[in-house]
Amino acid sequence: MSTPRLVVLSTLAAVGLVSSVAAAQQSQSDPRYKVHDMSRPQPPVVDPGTPSSQAKAGTAPADAVVLFDGTNLSKWRAGNGDAAWKVVDGVIEVAAGTGSLITRESFGDCQFHIEWMVPTSLEPDGQKGCNSGVFFMEMYEVQILHSNGNETYPDGMAGSLYGQYPPLVNACRPQGEWNTYDITFTAPRFNDNGSVKTPAYCTVLFNGVVVQNHVEFFGRTAHMRPAAYSKHPDRLPISIQDHGDKLRFRNIWVRPLGQ
Ligand code: MG
Repeated sequence: MSTPRLVVLSTLAAVGLVSSVAAAQQSQSDPRYKVHDMSRPQPPVVDPGTPSSQAKAGTAPADAVVLFDGTNLSKWRAGNGDAAWKVVDGVIEVAAGTGSLITRESFGDCQFHIEWMVPTSLEPDGQKGCNSGVFFMEMYEVQILHSNGNETYPDGMAGSLYGQYPPLVNACRPQGEWNTYDITFTAPRFNDNGSVKTPAYCTVLFNGVVVQNHVEFFGRTAHMRPAAYSKHPDRLPISIQDHGDKLRFRNIWVRPLGQ
């Protein structure tokens, strides 16, 4: 800041004008409030829980919708009825061939947490033997894959937005160890005529490391063809992919965001 501006600011402050000048400015993030508006609601206080570790699943934040706490699959279903995946020793195991695990509740913008592991009994071979994924709105996939010493196309490895963006780095732990995803997902918005108003966005922390930084989905996840959007509801279920491989999952929670 230049000296003349400092002089002007201090002069304004001296006559009590700085706060009124600032207060007159409308907030760019919410036009209902002014900049530095004391009447803007304070964000709620939330117990942040404890982060997960290799040894033990973490706990969810106090305001999260817990989707799996180690006991049962009551928050989930299959495409054609009750979920058939197994709960063994407090973790979920894919029942290969029974279809994806789908939340009973629907979500739009959200923060999502999941811990996943590729057991050492599986034999990763590129995309085979170690594949799952988190599908927001059952359409937009954050890939789950064993990517520690198992090479595949970068936009299909762990932490990728499948077929669209490779992860910024490879933060995958060795086979048999637990990995965590902390994901913020912003749902797309559509105009009445079906065109895209704003696309879907995603930020992914993989074992605490940012691997996707607010990137834009090009559309619904597709295999070997360009992604495209088609209009859909504001809220839809989240699903975990059955790719035929017996991956394990624990400590799954979601925090709906926004209005
Ligand atoms: Mg997948």
